[in-house]
Amino acid sequence: QQTDKELLYKIHEVANDFFQNQLFESEEGKAVGYSYFKERELRDEIIRKFQLGYSPEQRNAFTEYALNKGYSKEILEKSGLSVFPESVPNGVDRFRERVIFPIHSFSGRVLGFGARILKSNVKTAKYLNSPETEIYHKSNVLYGLNQSKQAISKNNLCLLVEGYMDVIALHQAGIENVVSSSGTALTVEQIKLIKRLTENVTILFDGDAAGIKASFRSIDMLLSESMNIRILLFPDGDDPDSFSRKHPQEFVENFIKNEAKDFIDFKAEILLKEAGEDPIKKAEAIRDIVKSVAFVRNALKQEVYLKEISNRFGLSEQSLFNELNVQKQIKN
Ligand code: ATP
Ligand code: MN
Ligand code: MN
Ligand code: MN
Repeated sequence: QQTDKELLYKIHEVANDFFQNQLFESEEGKAVGYSYFKERELRDEIIRKFQLGYSPEQRNAFTEYALNKGYSKEILEKSGLSVFPESVPNGVDRFRERVIFPIHSFSGRVLGFGARILKSNVKTAKYLNSPETEIYHKSNVLYGLNQSKQAISKNNLCLLVEGYMDVIALHQAGIENVVSSSGTALTVEQIKLIKRLTENVTILFDGDAAGIKASFRSIDMLLSESMNIRILLFPDGDDPDSFSRKHPQEFVENFIKNEAKDFIDFKAEILLKEAGEDPIKKAEAIRDIVKSVAFVRNALKQEVYLKEISNRFGLSEQSLFNELNVQKQIKN
């Protein structure tokens, strides 16, 4: 007697094989899915490494396949891979006419999928993910961790990017110590997964407003988990995927190494640019930086950071300490 959980792992294996087969073997998959990945300049070996796949247009292609293999409607529904509305007793696949990114656990079991539409002009969401299930809890998973864990340990550094394609493109460029929280805000559980391998994180987010916002939030999260962080925003409109395809590997590696800043410099640069010469806005910017220092758990480190801010902006340490205490009280 198999438990639901075991069956869910099993059905994800079956689905993963199905989607990969569709990509490489079916006429539709080759013409649509495989050629999509080729347009995005992925080599076969990297498509295989990340077990990328394709879900056909036929609305119950996978559901029919799994039912024929003996899986029940009930377990298919629980897996999030199929739904059975009353009007459609044969069921409907969750993922249709999309390229598929399997999401693995730390140890390499398939827990769920991300799936991208092929054309960007369609009005539906660009990415669709598995729902929460008994085996997939998105806040506990980092995309790419299984493929990247050795390189993260070896480099004693984890690069954190926004998307699936960023992880994959960096691997293809020979940079293999990289994971993504895949569009969700970084969680404590995800940080703890990284911490098993390293305490050093470099945030590499998209160079747009959303990327800046996400990086500010991630900075505070990572600081409160006592991680050592550096941050790099890519030039306007670029993300790690597009950037790594424009430049040779060595250039990308050096760019990450040399351009990543500590969080004080990073926030100062962005916030002071916004503030211009307005003294009130300048004060707001400094307050925002001190707010991040309030997330640092170690009092000694806090003091070092405040000294740095003090030197940088020519402000007294005393007034910065006062502000720090205000921020700590607001926080608690
Ligand atoms: P691509 O290069 O394929 O267009 P991207 O990764 O650059 O995708 P972004 O828009 O930068 O896409 O989003 C970053 C990540 O956020 C995605 O990889 C995906 O995990 C997640 N995401 C984006 N759009 C959606 C969406 N509509 N629904 C759910 N998750 C999304
Ligand atoms: Mn983006
Ligand atoms: Mn992006
Ligand atoms: Mn992208």
